[in-house]
Amino acid sequence: MQKNSFFVILVLSSLLIFSCKSDEKTVLQFEAMNTIMTVQLYGPNAQNAATQVVQKIGDLEKSISSTLPDSYISLLNRPGGQFSKTDEHTFYLLDYAKKMGIATDGALNIALYPVIKEWGFTTGDYKVPSQDKIDELLLHTDFTKINLFEGNQVQIEEGMQLDLGAVGKGYAGDLAVEVLKNLGIKSALLDLGGNIQALGTKSDGSPWKIGVKNPWGGEAVAGLYINNEAVITSGGYERFFDTLDGKRYIHIFDGKTGYPVENDLESVTIISESGLYADSLSTALFVMGFEGAKSFWEKHQDFQMILITKEHKIFYTPLLSDRIFSVDDSIPMFML
Ligand code: AMP
Ligand code: MG
Repeated sequence: MQKNSFFVILVLSSLLIFSCKSDEKTVLQFEAMNTIMTVQLYGPNAQNAATQVVQKIGDLEKSISSTLPDSYISLLNRPGGQFSKTDEHTFYLLDYAKKMGIATDGALNIALYPVIKEWGFTTGDYKVPSQDKIDELLLHTDFTKINLFEGNQVQIEEGMQLDLGAVGKGYAGDLAVEVLKNLGIKSALLDLGGNIQALGTKSDGSPWKIGVKNPWGGEAVAGLYINNEAVITSGGYERFFDTLDGKRYIHIFDGKTGYPVENDLESVTIISESGLYADSLSTALFVMGFEGAKSFWEKHQDFQMILITKEHKIFYTPLLSDRIFSVDDSIPMFML
């Protein structure tokens, strides 16, 4: 199999919106949710469908962004602890993320925004905060105190601030697929900043072939065939900073300590029909580390996963065995 034929998970450098149409295929690249997204659609009406996907994801971003000042999340994050009206999508995500936070014993915690900001991950002005500051900020990170009421009303306590960065792109993928299905599109591959979401198969009926990114750089370490699924990866290599003494701090946080996660994993890839479930779990299982991720999977078994460890090993769940293949011999693969 040729490496260059994979739809490799890449961060593209262009910020331009462009589209092209050849035969029945439409490719549209755009910027949303602080990343580059590409949709690849097949079938009649694909150009219009692609435009509607861009619109849908743009609307979601306007609702759930922590940085756009008028989003529902930003309104909720204002000081004051007031009740705030949200919309259907924001409310659904808050409810879902709260439940997933409980299911993962706090590994997924959407109330860490003040901590993440203090470390500089929202501005790029990185620093290691004092322990006192971290302790003070951790007092307001109990996500179980996100109060959800009828009519999409939400209330959080004074000092608490939310960030849906760990779940938003997965949900965007689900919404995009819903838009496409409603428009009669049967075949599409979406790359939402490295999160892959497939609708159906390729137009010739064969499965999509995608790559799982090499956390140490370069292209893929493994290839995977997928159909109608999301493939979502969390890894420290995506965003981090290094201090002068050579220590690396990554963008995924342990809500119990207020520090960036430091464990035996380089990346966690989750495969599920639901982009939202996959996105929530990729972050949460990354926080848990190898043993935690493995036991969570053993208990639930309603998703597939690929763990890449710091020891340069790839582990995958048994149901992937007939559709995953190695690309890089120096990184051996093992079935969980
Ligand atoms: P992802 O790339 O899906 O793993 O999401 C990572 C983003 O989610 C980070 O950039 C933060 O904005 C936020 N985040 C970091 N740690 C956590 C956590 N433990 N739970 C929920 N969100 C987090
Ligand atoms: Mg995630």
